[in-house]
Amino acid sequence: MKRVAVIGAGTMGNGIAHVFAQSGTDVTLIDVSSAALDGALAAIRKNLDRQVKKGTTTDADRDAVMKRITPATDVGRAAGADLIVEAATEAPEIKFKIFRDMDRASAGSAILATNTSSISITEIAAQTAHPDRVIGMHFMNPVPLMPLVEVIRGLQTSAETTAAVMSAARALGKTPVEVNDSPGFVSNRVLLPMINEAVFCVMEGVATPESVDTVMKLGMNHPMGPLALADLIGLDVCLAILEVLHRGLGDDKYRPCPLLRKMVAAGQLGRKSGRGFYEYGK
Ligand code: NAD
Repeated sequence: MKRVAVIGAGTMGNGIAHVFAQSGTDVTLIDVSSAALDGALAAIRKNLDRQVKKGTTTDADRDAVMKRITPATDVGRAAGADLIVEAATEAPEIKFKIFRDMDRASAGSAILATNTSSISITEIAAQTAHPDRVIGMHFMNPVPLMPLVEVIRGLQTSAETTAAVMSAARALGKTPVEVNDSPGFVSNRVLLPMINEAVFCVMEGVATPESVDTVMKLGMNHPMGPLALADLIGLDVCLAILEVLHRGLGDDKYRPCPLLRKMVAAGQLGRKSGRGFYEYGK
């Protein structure tokens, strides 16, 4: 991939732009909000500074990486890219429109990838005239540190598109894993029921959040307990993904725990709101 465009410069978009630029690719980073773009460039620089301090990169490399990233507020600037990675807000209508626009702008010459956590790749692809060129490229947070990329094939994604994206992920030093489109893919289908069950344990008085997390950390060697992880992901995001699993797979084993619903209704969303299963200082 010689030229990559990343659409959406939030938490994930800035990490994705960072890793592509660090691998030597020119990146156009696009967002409707110029404040988001400023924030993204500052975050990338801060993360690169941390790498310089650790000795894993140099001042000159950091400056070269920053130079490869061009910010833009006009989505049309993605035209001409070989790969467009969409990491905009998780809302079907926003993503559908971006894919319709990108498909028209690239006329089938670019691979259109989405970083969605829960929206069907097949449905996103159906918005375009080239569904064989549409694929899921699901990076994990924080992108520069996490080695996995879940590569999700929609019903009509071609073998060529899949092979190109697997190889692009490897060129970033990541390990891609190919999966088929299904609600929650593999990552969230396995992770979220575990988090949900941990919430049930708390609701039913089986154990405190601290005890549940300690069992999973010390007994199962998880680096972080499921409830601390839920607070990090955001309880509203956890609830939304469980709803997708419940609706999409039609099985009550995915029903969100009533305590999770209650906490989201109360605005206790985890770290981002200062309170979830744990309290966080300002
Ligand atoms: P975020 O809210 O931090 O950033 C989204 C950005 O998209 C915002 O800056 C917003 O201004 C921009 N945006 C909205 N509409 C746009 C448009 N039409 N064109 C261009 N930019 C637009 O969100 P995030 O956490 O970075 O998530 C982005 C995507 O990545 C979502 O699909 C999410 O499901 C997925 N994801 C998130 C995580 C995570 O841990 N945060 C992990 C894996 C995947």
